[in-house]
Amino acid sequence: MSTFTAEVVICGAGIAGIAAAYHLAVKQGVRNVVLVDERPPMTLTSDKSTEAYRNWWPGPDEAMLRFMNRSIDLLEQLDDASGHRLRLNRRGYLYATGNPAHVPALVESAKQAARMGAGSLRVHAGNPADPAYVSGNAEHWRDQPDGADLFLDPALLRRHFPYLNSDALAALHARRCGWFSGQQLGMVMLERAKAAGVRLLAGRVEAVETPGGRVRSVRVAGAGGVEEIATTQFVNAAGPLVNKVARLLDLDLPIFSELHLKMALEDRRGVIPRDAPLVIWEDAQRLPWDEEERAALAESEATRYLLAEFPGGVHFRPEGSHDAATVLLLWAYHLEPVEPHLPVPIDPEFAETALRGMTTLAPGLAVYLEKLPKSYVDGGYYTKTRENRPLIGPLPVEGAYVIGALSGYGLMAACAGGELLAAHLVGAHCRSMLRPSCSAATLTRCIRNSLPRGARRVNCSQQFQRSSPRSCSHSRGNNMGMSTVSGVPHTPTFSRSHVPPGKMPIPYRM
Ligand SMILES: Cc1cc2nc3c(=O)[nH]c(=O)nc-3n(C[C@H](O)[C@H](O)[C@H](O)COP(=O)(O)OP(=O)(O)OC[C@H]3O[C@@H](n4cnc5c(N)ncnc54)[C@H](O)[C@@H]3O)c2cc1C
Repeated sequence: MSTFTAEVVICGAGIAGIAAAYHLAVKQGVRNVVLVDERPPMTLTSDKSTEAYRNWWPGPDEAMLRFMNRSIDLLEQLDDASGHRLRLNRRGYLYATGNPAHVPALVESAKQAARMGAGSLRVHAGNPADPAYVSGNAEHWRDQPDGADLFLDPALLRRHFPYLNSDALAALHARRCGWFSGQQLGMVMLERAKAAGVRLLAGRVEAVETPGGRVRSVRVAGAGGVEEIATTQFVNAAGPLVNKVARLLDLDLPIFSELHLKMALEDRRGVIPRDAPLVIWEDAQRLPWDEEERAALAESEATRYLLAEFPGGVHFRPEGSHDAATVLLLWAYHLEPVEPHLPVPIDPEFAETALRGMTTLAPGLAVYLEKLPKSYVDGGYYTKTRENRPLIGPLPVEGAYVIGALSGYGLMAACAGGELLAAHLVGAHCRSMLRPSCSAATLTRCIRNSLPRGARRVNCSQQFQRSSPRSCSHSRGNNMGMSTVSGVPHTPTFSRSHVPPGKMPIPYRM
């Protein structure tokens, strides 16, 4: 077994570990950082993302909005500094509804987000005094509007978004949102981190030695054998495997995982304009079937669930250049906490179900129902706390840290998350981001039994059992890279039953 020394060892070269390495080495000047991964960088969850971002986090407080505003500031700086290599755009997220009962919630969430710092709200209700709606540049973020445009005039909505369901009554176009190349973000930060001395080591972290409750060394098994790295600082950035790695420190993190799938459809008939924003249908729906299909589906227990009500949140965005035809379709309609299983299991029915649900949002897509065009489905795990806020900071073993539970927002949160983790590690203040009281945002202890109340963890083989579709009620509205506007995460409410007073884990807060 060979041995060497490192100042910091990071486990995981997904976007979280890379962002941590970048901020430690490039921004904080830490020398001798080793980034360990058993896979090539950015190949487990971070390359499955929709690569979307938003500063649209209406409630319950302003913490996530401030966190994302900071992360987007850093994304914009990196995009500028790399000559627009991230291809960061600001097309926005369009949240649409055809349900009159939902319109007040849409209006209220818009006002709330504006109050919290998402930018100003412009209302378009068909009045002559209404401000003009600016559609903007589809390919860049610079000089684009922020805040939001609220459409309360269906005719105006249809004029600007003609592909939307004609039942759409109202929509909210949140503007400091869009997408970027997640792979480029990872590569830009990794290249700069390497140039600043970060070493990438291929291998699996198998053990962390903690004599006397302090990190002393990390054991890595690679193709060339086992290496022992003497270090006093260890960062757990293992994505969906974050709890497996935490157990090497004898800790159990308050997290769970959900499987999320995404479909890439070749829209050869050009139903979705190439300059469209990310579009979300807020309303629950029943999948559109004809009479004959309904009768056939009702016959079998295995297919009856396809007649039940599906949750809101079906969404799409165009992917690639103006010459491309790809559209990404997502819908988290069947969520249960699951044990991460690799390779990720793919539901063979996802493509048809997602496409069918998407026809409620954009009816023109029905042309593909007869014969599904070339499409590709992949996915990964959202690893989450019950509050759907990340875990970033020190663990209750001296020298051990975590950057994880990045849920469906890890790409957009990576820059601010890496900055915060590095600040914790070097004891610096994140002045630009944190209020003074926030230095208390540390994980003091990790607990067991961290599933949401009433939730049941299912194993891989149960993941596609055909029960009624549903989104997870405990995290409704903030599950996805997009989130439905009306959903708000719960305030932290961990059970204290197994935890001594003063030893509560708290998810990252600002
Ligand atoms: C379908 C889908 C859509 C999404 N859409 C968006 C979106 O639009 N916007 C957004 O911001 N986010 C989105 N996300 C979420 C985002 O992809 C994740 O939050 C993010 O990729 C998590 O990054 P990570 O670095 O924590 O984990 P990962 O990318 O999984 O990286 C963890 C790494 O740790 C390594 N590792 C684990 N254990 C060990 C070990 N013992 N030894 C060595 N290496 C180890 C793994 O090999 C892996 O490379 C989406 C996710 C999915 C699944």
